[in-house]
Amino acid sequence: MITKPIVGLPPSLGLQMLKQQSLCASGSPITLSVLCIHCCICVAIPEWLPRKAIGLRTPQVVQPTYLPIHFHHTPRASSQHPISVTSRPSTIATSNNHLIQSLCKKGNLKLALQVLAHEPNPTQHTYELLIISCADQSSLSDAQTVHNKLIGDGFEQDSFLATKLINMYCELDCMDHARQVFDKIYNRTIYVWNALFRALTLKGHGEEVLNLYRRMNQTGIASDRFTYTYVLKACVASKSFVSLLQEGKEIHAHILRHGYESYVHIMTTLVDVYARFGCVEYASYVFNNMPVKNVVSWSAMIACYAKNGRPFEALEVFREMMLETHDLLPNSVTMVSVLQACAALAALEQGKLIHGYILRKGLDSILPVISTLVTMYARCGDLELGRRIFCQMYKRDVVSWNSMISSYGIHGFGAKAIKVFKEMVYHGVSPSPISFVSLLGACSHAGLVEEEYGIYPSVEHYACMVDLLGRANRLDEAAKIIEGMRIEPGPKVWGSLLGSCRIHCNVELADRASRRLFELEPVNAGNYVLLADIYAEAKMWDDVKRVKKLLEARGLQKVPGCSWIEVKRKIYSLTSVDELNPQIEQIHALLLKLSMEMKEKGYVPETKVVLYDLDTEEKERILLGHSEKLAVAFGLINSNKRDAIRITKNLRLCEDCHTFTKFISKFAGREILVRDVNRFHHFKNGVCSCEDYW
Ligand SMILES: [Zn+2]
Ligand SMILES: [Zn+2]
Repeated sequence: MITKPIVGLPPSLGLQMLKQQSLCASGSPITLSVLCIHCCICVAIPEWLPRKAIGLRTPQVVQPTYLPIHFHHTPRASSQHPISVTSRPSTIATSNNHLIQSLCKKGNLKLALQVLAHEPNPTQHTYELLIISCADQSSLSDAQTVHNKLIGDGFEQDSFLATKLINMYCELDCMDHARQVFDKIYNRTIYVWNALFRALTLKGHGEEVLNLYRRMNQTGIASDRFTYTYVLKACVASKSFVSLLQEGKEIHAHILRHGYESYVHIMTTLVDVYARFGCVEYASYVFNNMPVKNVVSWSAMIACYAKNGRPFEALEVFREMMLETHDLLPNSVTMVSVLQACAALAALEQGKLIHGYILRKGLDSILPVISTLVTMYARCGDLELGRRIFCQMYKRDVVSWNSMISSYGIHGFGAKAIKVFKEMVYHGVSPSPISFVSLLGACSHAGLVEEEYGIYPSVEHYACMVDLLGRANRLDEAAKIIEGMRIEPGPKVWGSLLGSCRIHCNVELADRASRRLFELEPVNAGNYVLLADIYAEAKMWDDVKRVKKLLEARGLQKVPGCSWIEVKRKIYSLTSVDELNPQIEQIHALLLKLSMEMKEKGYVPETKVVLYDLDTEEKERILLGHSEKLAVAFGLINSNKRDAIRITKNLRLCEDCHTFTKFISKFAGREILVRDVNRFHHFKNGVCSCEDYW
């Protein structure tokens, strides 16, 4: 197709370009035309061409001394000239520039760099495309070649290119280089600051961003809307354990002072930031005061509730969104949060309705949505439906596989979870850290301690291993693992150990674990309660009192037990001391009747789970008030006799409720599914699927 020789470029390069043409099967017209133009021009204008620079071997070298100066610096000026001989120089320069630009767009960076080496006057746009290309191709060595040439060509103080360089080094994961670009530039426009803020935030250097932000404010440069978004995100992008909530609040104040509260994007980021800090009230305050909301804002608020243990409100906000906004369609992000809320509540019927909606809106081709559907069904007790959806997926990513692994896990099918894990590896999907966490979790529930995999453990893995060994009453081994950790054991690891100490009543290890936990998480009431539980089980009542005092002194409250049950597509919550439920009398009466009848069949109340030093009768009364039993009774009274009773509990199921529910499943001939904070219990005909191991 190209008949003319490629002149004006080193012969080897011309040949390469021809090869490149033949390698492109379709011979894309753009490349061809660019090449043709280039060749023609090079052939047509031989006299003044800086031959040495372009590597053309010829004896009559003409120094281009008469070239107008502006040609070097403003090549675009060519368009001002009529098409005549005078326009030649600039046409040549831009054609080389055009060639580089076109090669960059085509992804042929190597060739672009070879042309660059022979181009004395690359333009800003040429450098821009080269920089983007280096980032796309993840080539640090090329990036540095471009950067060095750019400095040589006098673009070092070009603030526009500085922003591009910072972005590039961020993508290449070289934050030192990005920082050097920033440090060397004198004219730091807001764009340069923003580029660095964005890069540092993406890499998790939140504190550095906030320090720089303070410096920027001192120099008097005003923030723009992007600045606020980046510095807000920086507050939740810190790798250290230090909370940057206070800084977030200060930025919030800045935003209000500078009149940016009407920017949807900024305010949505603010909702998200407060959500990540667990400040649900702040988030909802910001959200409710937003003059304009888009689908992202609604999704952020729904996610905030879903992720902060308030699934009821998440579904409520979703309902509001559907009622209030007719032109806003929920997107896949919204649906993922809504499904998570259904999963948290084990609201199977609600979940099915949402599934129907997803199908109608065609959101069922989006991977995260389907993966969450799998998890939702499994967590709502319908493992089979989740499995079927998983099997029908035409494409699966690591998240989908993880969903299936953890689904088997919470239902206690450790062996099946391992099978799915192996299948995933067989299909060439590399396991993510979450895969191992799900897998280890699954093994823990199934008691399969001996399965081992060669992994690079993170804190989560250690926590799982400790949990795994701890549950299997291999507490000493668990403690040894913690001692041998190469990374700092965080609250998760110590929390796992304390949880296992609770199961096996190991006071000595519990003391050790809780000492560390009280330092690491002074305001987590759960740890104090666990320790008090352990002391109570060991009948160390003075110590129980001491821990309870500690809890009060820190102004903390024990999380009250709460159970949810879905009856006829409505979700009801029951708490241990629930006097508001209109059926409470009926529920109590039924429980008392059942308890008496079951005692005759061999049910013995496990009064040891009551942590107060009371007489047996009083303890039994307290036991009957546990929210999970109330929910079972509520289900027996209100639901269809053929339907399974599905309950979710916010804490671990106590031993007595477990035994009680086993008896009821046989006594009343009902299937009862209870999901506690750890796993699923499927009660049927007097036995539980967990085989009393949870
Ligand atoms: Zn209980
Ligand atoms: Zn069970």
